[in-house]
Amino acid sequence: MDSNGVDEQMKLVEGAGGYVLEDVPHLSDYILDLPTYPNPLQSNAAYSVVRQYFVDEDDTVPQKIVVHKDSPRGTHFRRAGPRQKVCFKSADVRACIVTCGGLCPGLNTVIREIVCGLHFMYGVKEVTGVNCGFRGFYSRNTVTLTPKSVSDIHKRGGTMLGTSRGGHDTLKIVDNIEDREINQVYIIGGDGTQKGASAIYKEIRRRGLKVAVAGIPKTIDNDIPVIDKSFGFDTAVEEAQRAINAAHVEATSVENGIGLVKLMGRYSGFIAMYATLASRDVDCCLIPESPFYLEGKGGLYEFIAKRLTENGHMVIVVAEGAGQDLLAESIDQQDASGNKLLKDVGLWMSLKIKEHFAKESKMDITLKYIDPTYMIRAIPANASDNVYSTLLAQSAVHGAMAGYTGFTAGLVNGRQTYIPFNRITERQNKVVITDRMWARMLSSTNQPSFMNPPKGTTSVTE
Ligand code: ATP
Ligand code: MG
Repeated sequence: MDSNGVDEQMKLVEGAGGYVLEDVPHLSDYILDLPTYPNPLQSNAAYSVVRQYFVDEDDTVPQKIVVHKDSPRGTHFRRAGPRQKVCFKSADVRACIVTCGGLCPGLNTVIREIVCGLHFMYGVKEVTGVNCGFRGFYSRNTVTLTPKSVSDIHKRGGTMLGTSRGGHDTLKIVDNIEDREINQVYIIGGDGTQKGASAIYKEIRRRGLKVAVAGIPKTIDNDIPVIDKSFGFDTAVEEAQRAINAAHVEATSVENGIGLVKLMGRYSGFIAMYATLASRDVDCCLIPESPFYLEGKGGLYEFIAKRLTENGHMVIVVAEGAGQDLLAESIDQQDASGNKLLKDVGLWMSLKIKEHFAKESKMDITLKYIDPTYMIRAIPANASDNVYSTLLAQSAVHGAMAGYTGFTAGLVNGRQTYIPFNRITERQNKVVITDRMWARMLSSTNQPSFMNPPKGTTSVTE
């Protein structure tokens, strides 16, 4: 039992060649003795081909490929997909969907595909949308979702349900779920949202309610661990190219032109790193995980002067969380969800660089600063994110119908899986600067690694 009076989610069972972590509890194991029914997909002519594709209860996916012959099999997650048996009769399902946290391309696609998946695959008619995030459970009206009402929402950015930060009140939310007799809750959001989903799941378990809680991880920054990548990330990298292109055009159009682009990434620099690798126009990429410094030998100012002398222009990409420790005065403020508010590193850098080169007329530079954050967050998902969002939504639907609960749907090692909430909320996914990808990025830009700051120089740390 944990401090919430809930059995631990994981139990070890013996498995061939080592052990398997039973990561996802089954509703009937833990909450209720639910009767099971044949999966309606079995009798649906349109899906007859799916029959061979029912996923076995014991089918798991390893988190990491373990190469050493003596090592245990490592962490496995249940493979996602339709099961032979489901725990809910279609007519009994009362599902609801909520979106929380910041905007991300693909949110509407996930909503659409949960509604359509429930409706077309499982014949579920009652799906409700909760408006404006967690607080919508107790302070807002709900909206009825049908395949018709969501048919073309994937072509629009944002979330048709609205979203918010803060306002997570577990007891009030679960009271509302109970009052409305909801038995499937789909929660789409980032790390904070998944923590909120976990709290809801635990309270539901404590009350012994027959409710499946399924999460779909949303983070444009790709900062959620375990999963291969998050939906919206590809779209963000693609859209960032437009900002980088604009910065490049500005920089090449004047003498000693510098284009500075700030991209999303509070604690993880994946968008900046991939956008840099994709673009080839970027001369320097700065991310929260990699310390850097401005002054002295090997510093940013020296590199800028070198590139401008060589090429006459340059483009710098900086992730929003980079360089926070270098910024002079700190703002000790949080948003409604308790996330630390960051200072605008892009604005700060543009002032510092201008100031530095103006000093003693070192070099006549022209710097243009572009912050495309809200332009990127608000666009609809691209093709690959639309496909990915669809698979995540369908996995979540299959899992909830089969009676799984307390899980997040996610891609692990290229396979759709069910991951317990605690696994994806316990840490953040970060760029490992000793890994190949960062090395590839460094060789692509040929920028300094900023590894050896001169004595007395402040270098930025995470
Ligand atoms: P992103 O940061 O990618 O925009 P997020 O889901 O992390 O998405 P937050 O604003 O941090 O966004 O959180 C979303 C919701 O989750 C908010 O309503 C917040 O109250 C709730 N939440 C955050 N952290 C927790 C927590 N530890 N326990 C319960 N609820 C939480
Ligand atoms: Mg977050």
